[in-house]
Amino acid sequence: MIPFVDLKANYLSIKEEIDNAIQFVINNSDFIMGESVSLFENNFAKYCGGKHCVAVSNGTSALEIALKAHGISHGDEVICPVNTYIATAEAIINVGAVVKFVDIDEKTYNIDPSKIVISESTKAIIPVHLYGQTVDMDPIIKIAQENDLIIIEDCAQAHGVMYKGKKVPIYGTGCFSFYPSKNLGAFGDAGAIVTDNEDVAREAKLIRNHGFSKNKHRHEIIGTNNRMDSIQAAVLSVKLKHLDKWNDMRIRNAKLYLKLLNMRNSISKHVYHLFVIRSKNRDKLVDYLTQKGVQTGIHYPFPLHKQEALARHTIEIYPVAEMLSKEILSLPMYPELSKEDIKYVCDLIKEFNNSQI
Ligand SMILES: *Cc1c(COP(=O)(O)O)cnc(C)c1O
Repeated sequence: MIPFVDLKANYLSIKEEIDNAIQFVINNSDFIMGESVSLFENNFAKYCGGKHCVAVSNGTSALEIALKAHGISHGDEVICPVNTYIATAEAIINVGAVVKFVDIDEKTYNIDPSKIVISESTKAIIPVHLYGQTVDMDPIIKIAQENDLIIIEDCAQAHGVMYKGKKVPIYGTGCFSFYPSKNLGAFGDAGAIVTDNEDVAREAKLIRNHGFSKNKHRHEIIGTNNRMDSIQAAVLSVKLKHLDKWNDMRIRNAKLYLKLLNMRNSISKHVYHLFVIRSKNRDKLVDYLTQKGVQTGIHYPFPLHKQEALARHTIEIYPVAEMLSKEILSLPMYPELSKEDIKYVCDLIKEFNNSQI
């Protein structure tokens, strides 16, 4: 069997370091927002080249808190791509804002800047660096600057990817998920906001922990409980040291897939959180691969406007996302995936394609 991801193989490759880091937290017994959390915040801010990192409980809360910390609230419109994980839209709706979906680009699967429409109420854009590939940020930044919009980047699938020599977040504030299977994954739920904006960082720190300010020994605002566990932070600091190497291994794996499947290279920089192909016979191909012991995924089988929970939030249609949602297929992708396994998967796909002619 070839799994879609293999978190056990990843753990075993750094078992001793991880076990020691977890033991350190247990010895300290500062289980929530302890020493390991502030250490990780420093490490991750430095890694991203951002001024501040605010560790939180998961990627969805990172998005929600970042929106709130930037002052987004009731009635504000926030733009996001229609092909993304539901969390991006959920965060917008959960802060009381109005979600405005934008169709995606057929080649990059990312938001298509030429389809962005700004209204009087538009306050922010959330570009999503989907699958590990950077959004072409220059046109987005231009639109944001011309219309005085906030940019909050959804970096949940794109830890460490670069755009024009800079790691994400490119423009200011970025939100990360450390869900276990992400390129940088914890041993449970965790997330972070990285920002250069000191006021946003301060506000985010208040929101994540009941509005509590240590300096003032007071609850300044009504916040939430979205703190990070120290064990997650300890695991993340260990794994962060290996992230660039693991991203390189993903890129190496992707290059082999691209070569064997005769596919073109990605246009933008890519850290291959997912390796996505297209097939006109996608569903049959999935069945074929499953039969042969290859696990695959679809990201995502429905564009967000086709999800029951979101259908009433838009009346528009998004033809590119709709077409692609029927063709896209995510193949096994993780750093430890072997050449032989990639070759096996590619042989099966070629065999399948030949049988369809
Ligand atoms: C994983 C993910 C999130 C949500 O992160 P959680 O940690 O699961 O809350 C948000 N956006 C995108 C694009 C994601 O892939």
